[in-house]
Amino acid sequence: MTTPLDAVALTRELLAFETINPPGHEQACAEHLARSLEGAGLSVRLHAFGDRRTNLVATVGGNGDRLPLCFTGHLDTVPLGAAPWRFDPFAGEIAEGRLYGRGSSDMKAGVAAFVVAASSLAERLTGTPGVALVITGGEETGCDGAAALARDDVLGRAGALVVAEPTANAPLAGHKGALWLKAVTRGVTAHGSMPELGVNAVYKAARAVSRLEDFGFNLEPHPHLGKPTLNVGSVHGGLNINSVPDRAEIGIDIRTVPGLDHDRLRHGIAGYLGDDVELEPLVDLGPVWTDPRDPWFESVLNTVAAVTAERTGIRTAAYFTDASVLTPAYDGPPTVILGPGEPTMAHQTDEYCRIDHIEQAVEIYRRLILRWCGLA
Ligand SMILES: [Zn+2]
Repeated sequence: MTTPLDAVALTRELLAFETINPPGHEQACAEHLARSLEGAGLSVRLHAFGDRRTNLVATVGGNGDRLPLCFTGHLDTVPLGAAPWRFDPFAGEIAEGRLYGRGSSDMKAGVAAFVVAASSLAERLTGTPGVALVITGGEETGCDGAAALARDDVLGRAGALVVAEPTANAPLAGHKGALWLKAVTRGVTAHGSMPELGVNAVYKAARAVSRLEDFGFNLEPHPHLGKPTLNVGSVHGGLNINSVPDRAEIGIDIRTVPGLDHDRLRHGIAGYLGDDVELEPLVDLGPVWTDPRDPWFESVLNTVAAVTAERTGIRTAAYFTDASVLTPAYDGPPTVILGPGEPTMAHQTDEYCRIDHIEQAVEIYRRLILRWCGLA
């Protein structure tokens, strides 16, 4: 075994790899983690899903009777944005207890924390249910890496899932799903001075947009995730002012809650909009929800409270996570979203993660592993 890792130092190492997505070249960063995890005694599998696009699955322990505890996090980050940074986004600068960098909160600190927790306990996990680490690429563009892992059947199994996305170490019970649709209307082009010779696709799109504003889901609000929502985020149609447009496109962003089947919803909207509109899914990620009375979830709340001395009510995330793919792929194990990053810092200029939260997350994850594996 190599020297025990320090999670802040490991976060700084991960920040030095530029993994902005797109294009999201996670390979070098994943290979760096693979060497570290192998050094700590875990079995590691790298999984390519495109040009320099890489996922990593690492396991340790496993006794056949009880499934492992799975931790997941992604290595890709969003772009830097247009505003200038005060701190170098790749240097891992530390100031006033904060570690700065693109991906510090979302979510290289979370990955580093569970990698360090699992590595530090690896030698003790032989013969226990063990741990699986699922480290993905391509999350920011719609869980592409996780979907590739599920498709290629390399996930293995898991009895519970910890998603180390930024929650400032507060355990969250779930998040809404996302169904993003592209709606296309078609017409026949003609000179703008003779519109009677054409069929105007923009008029069809305008009627569809008006219909969408009145769309009702007919569903009781979820007690914690609330109501589903629908927003028309974009409308594009026509090429020039003096032609009848023969094509228009509408971008529809639907956020769903448990009980709303995405296929049925899509067919419902298609029927509601009628034959003038073609619908195509762009992102299709289901909601994630764990009943807070689930015994493991309750034990997570207790573990977090013991480490942080804070007990939060039942809370949910505003964003979606890889759990939309992984939880169903693992047949619905209890899932908690719990990580050291600052939720308000995700995707921001001068993104940072609090150092004390990184150390606290390592301690929480270590206790979750010890408990799961019957060592505490
Ligand atoms: Zn994230």
